[in-house]
Amino acid sequence: MPVINDCRTGSFFQIGREVNHNVCAAEAAEREESMQTKNYKFWFCTGSQDLYGDECLKKVAEHSAKIVDGLNASGKLPFEVVCKPTLISQASIRKTFNDANNDGDCAGVITWMHTFSPAKMWILGLKEFKKPLCHLHTQFNEELPYDTIDMDFMNENQSAHGDREYGHIVSRMGIERKIIVGHWASERVQEQLGSWMRTALGVIESSHVRVCRFGDNMNNVAVTEGDKVEAQIKFGWEIDHYSVNDLVEYVDAVAQGDVDALVEEYYSKYKIIDEGRDLDEFRRHVAVQARQEIGIEKFLTENAYHAVVTHFGMLGGLQQLPGLSIQRLMEKGYGFGAEGDWKVAAMVRLMKLMTADIKDAKGTSMMEDYTYNLVPGKEGILQAHMLEVCPSVAEGEIGIKVCPLSMGNREDPARLVFTSKTGPAIACSLVDLGTRFRLLINAVDCKKVEKPMPKLPVGTAFWTPQPNMEIGATAWILAGGAHHTAFSYDLTVEQMEDWAAAMGIESVVIDQNTNIRDFKKELRWNMTAF
Ligand code: MN
Repeated sequence: MPVINDCRTGSFFQIGREVNHNVCAAEAAEREESMQTKNYKFWFCTGSQDLYGDECLKKVAEHSAKIVDGLNASGKLPFEVVCKPTLISQASIRKTFNDANNDGDCAGVITWMHTFSPAKMWILGLKEFKKPLCHLHTQFNEELPYDTIDMDFMNENQSAHGDREYGHIVSRMGIERKIIVGHWASERVQEQLGSWMRTALGVIESSHVRVCRFGDNMNNVAVTEGDKVEAQIKFGWEIDHYSVNDLVEYVDAVAQGDVDALVEEYYSKYKIIDEGRDLDEFRRHVAVQARQEIGIEKFLTENAYHAVVTHFGMLGGLQQLPGLSIQRLMEKGYGFGAEGDWKVAAMVRLMKLMTADIKDAKGTSMMEDYTYNLVPGKEGILQAHMLEVCPSVAEGEIGIKVCPLSMGNREDPARLVFTSKTGPAIACSLVDLGTRFRLLINAVDCKKVEKPMPKLPVGTAFWTPQPNMEIGATAWILAGGAHHTAFSYDLTVEQMEDWAAAMGIESVVIDQNTNIRDFKKELRWNMTAF
């Protein structure tokens, strides 16, 4: 079971008693609280008014309760929906939204106007509400009751116009929300609601992400840079830095017995591909990564970080570039970015949280556009990194190799090698354009390469960007996308678009509908819109 699941139950990010730095008790408590189990729930708030009498309101409440029961029983939602009392006044609306703000377990509110609910009543509550908002535009009955419909029925079941009144004020106030349209019992609607819940989790959790940078970004590289102050304003990310030698102390302090036990685990879990190297020397190199895995994780948990960056050119007293160790930590749910890329580290962390506990999840990782296959009809981008690709994306056997890095001046690092799953996925790149952040989201089709690549000692994926290599790569470059991406098989373009919208940043999508003429116009128009 991936360890990330445990962060919901509290065992993943327990903070040690000793906090390494000068953290006051209040701050330590706040950090601890931010790390603890979140048993997230979503509130279901039905709007109405008292114009039609108590009998009607009784039915409204009954219908809402049945809808909530049906949604919870559907098996399509990752989180529980909680039915709240029907809202019929400005005071109750305002109080409910503020209670939602203050309830640490509430990750968002789902609203629905069963009858007409005059929307001026909603203004103050909406204005003060700070969490993800969904507008479920549904009605209790699926079909018109042809034989029995009368004016009483019409007055009682009028979300068709009540939801328009409500929607008007949300639009007028410029509040971001997800609108889902259709009968609440339909699988499509339930799946859309479940999908939005994961986006909402990404929005709520974003303000808890803490990134630990060992060293700075790689010198001279543009696209991994960014405004950390603005990132904290927009996304809530805390982005700190340490000397890598602060980490070395932790790594060196790991008990030999713990290292040996973890090496045993590696040897039992992964195929050893020694390629003729001395077996003792191979094992010693693997042990360096085991020691790093334990030391880095201890540093991160003690100091309450969820994501980490390294830099191959800034290794201080580390014997090897963290490879296998970082791959394993990513698999456990930590975000990672290479060469100091804190934007990717934070995005990988968030996307791992958004996909945690998905049954049969296919994986989420940092990736890097490395090299192309440009043979007509077989075009694709080979994805890899020096070492650090998360094995959650692997398909088939995972091996360990020890090979030279061909960069830097350290020992040959041990790394996990594998190829990745096939199927649709998304690659995301958050770039800082100087005046704003832009999230690029590319729908990609992952494939197997035609032939094995026996000499390539890294985990890889291979994909063709939608709509095809020519347009996909053109659009990516036009939009300023990076070579590092946060990649997932388990999230959709729509989920990431909605996340960006909730964060108040620009997003651009590259998918089957992209054509370069329109895409250029969109980028030009966005310059004035953001
Ligand atoms: Mn890189």
